Amino acid sequence: MRQAGVERRMMPRVSCDECHSGVPDFEITHFGSIEAGYRNLCSRCYNEEVARRSGLTFTHIAFLPMELPDANGAGHRFHFVLRLLGTMLSLAAIEVKGGGREGYEFQVHGAADADPFDLMTRLLERMRHDLAKTYLVEGDLGLAISGTTVRGQLTCDPESADYMPVLVIDGREVSWEQFGRMLMTFEGWRIHLEIQDPSEEV
Ligand SMILES: [Zn+2]
Repeated sequence: MRQAGVERRMMPRVSCDECHSGVPDFEITHFGSIEAGYRNLCSRCYNEEVARRSGLTFTHIAFLPMELPDANGAGHRFHFVLRLLGTMLSLAAIEVKGGGREGYEFQVHGAADADPFDLMTRLLERMRHDLAKTYLVEGDLGLAISGTTVRGQLTCDPESADYMPVLVIDGREVSWEQFGRMLMTFEGWRIHLEIQDPSEEV
């Protein structure tokens, strides 16, 4: 298990232009307009700015990172990002491995005046539910689909030239080619693909 101190050293920090605290890059919102200019704001400063502009009373909660086990007992460390998006409040859990964002991501939405702790309760329920299930197994020929259902998240590798999807299944990145090879075990079978909003339960 990675030491918290090691992670702190490795995690690249970006300075907030308002409060000057260093936060992980996924906490930063590039906020502003062409006329007024843009600033990099941490979640707290961003939420306070949105609340002020929307005339809302809002108290930011900085949830501490948390480690949750998956079905195999392996720990996954999550950072939480609370964001006020005008008419709605969003809470995301972002898995961090080593120095950056990698693995599982979850999010729930509520009304702008939703209680952040209620969102956290819903989010944790979703996370525990999803982490308890795995869809891949290490087989003789490498990673394989263990049953006939796969759930995960569509992401991309911004550094790849062809911009092909990268799937996150069981919190691990699976390339499009790798997933294609896994599917060939089922050649001739029928397939059903359903794409859902990140905040929906899958
Ligand atoms: Zn700030």
